Amino acid sequence: MRRCIMTNDVETTSIINGGLRVETGDRVWKEGLPLILDIYAKYNIRATFFFIAKYAKRCPEIVTMVHKAGHEVALHGLTHDHKLSFDTMSYELQLEHLVEGKKILEDIAGEEIVSFRSPALRVNSDTPRALVEAGFRYDSSVAPQRLDMFMSLGSKNKMQWLKAPRTPYETAIDNLARRGNSGIIEVPVSSFGAPYIGTAMRVAPRLTKLTRSLVYCETKDTNKVVNFLIHPIELITEPQLNEKIERRSKNPIAYLLSDVIRHQLKLKNLGEPAVKLFEKEIEYWLENKYDFVTIKDINGKEK
Ligand SMILES: [Zn+2]
Repeated sequence: MRRCIMTNDVETTSIINGGLRVETGDRVWKEGLPLILDIYAKYNIRATFFFIAKYAKRCPEIVTMVHKAGHEVALHGLTHDHKLSFDTMSYELQLEHLVEGKKILEDIAGEEIVSFRSPALRVNSDTPRALVEAGFRYDSSVAPQRLDMFMSLGSKNKMQWLKAPRTPYETAIDNLARRGNSGIIEVPVSSFGAPYIGTAMRVAPRLTKLTRSLVYCETKDTNKVVNFLIHPIELITEPQLNEKIERRSKNPIAYLLSDVIRHQLKLKNLGEPAVKLFEKEIEYWLENKYDFVTIKDINGKEK
């Protein structure tokens, strides 16, 4: 079974200017999302979209346009504010965010929301229990054996990725990166040491071609699923405001690695070049006879 999932994180994070911005949200709504929906329509494929619920509350059209086009509507958290990331919140607060976020999206889409991806893929040992309690059935916040975790925020918890299974699996009740019987199905984000995501596609197109062929070899004759992560904002450009990069890390080395260098790298091939690269990714999987499915199409019984 050859299956590929295009997962889209819909948020107000500005790649060019850093931070969460209302203007960025408006651009995603009016330009980025319509553009990526046109691409999916052109290739006649379905995808999964993870939304920040507070953003969806302000611009419900972002959800309705995706829902009308037949894609899966899923939750990317109530907010993308890194001060309220899932790995730092208590169980109670995580649950509150999940319940409120789910309700906002369900009210707009008029259907049950069952899939979740944590902002910045940050989770902790309370997250699976909170997901179960809030009524979720799927998670896609784990990137097995992805080594760029050292350059990202919350890297201590992401050490769990080193031993995470690569085929969709039922998670443990206290760890999304381990097998268990929580009732939550993890659909891991593809990687092969290097991440298989939009950012890598833009920043290191040649390395990504290699990653992609390794992912192909691994998935073509197995029940493993290709799960490519992209942000609609990557396909458009925004004016650069030239403000100082927001400092999220306290430690100066972490600041340099995860904020400054990362910021410079992330600007490569935004907009039109990203569209061309992204279409090549889609064409590759289509040529290799992969079915494009959504997160909730996975049954978790894959071995
Ligand atoms: Zn995100």
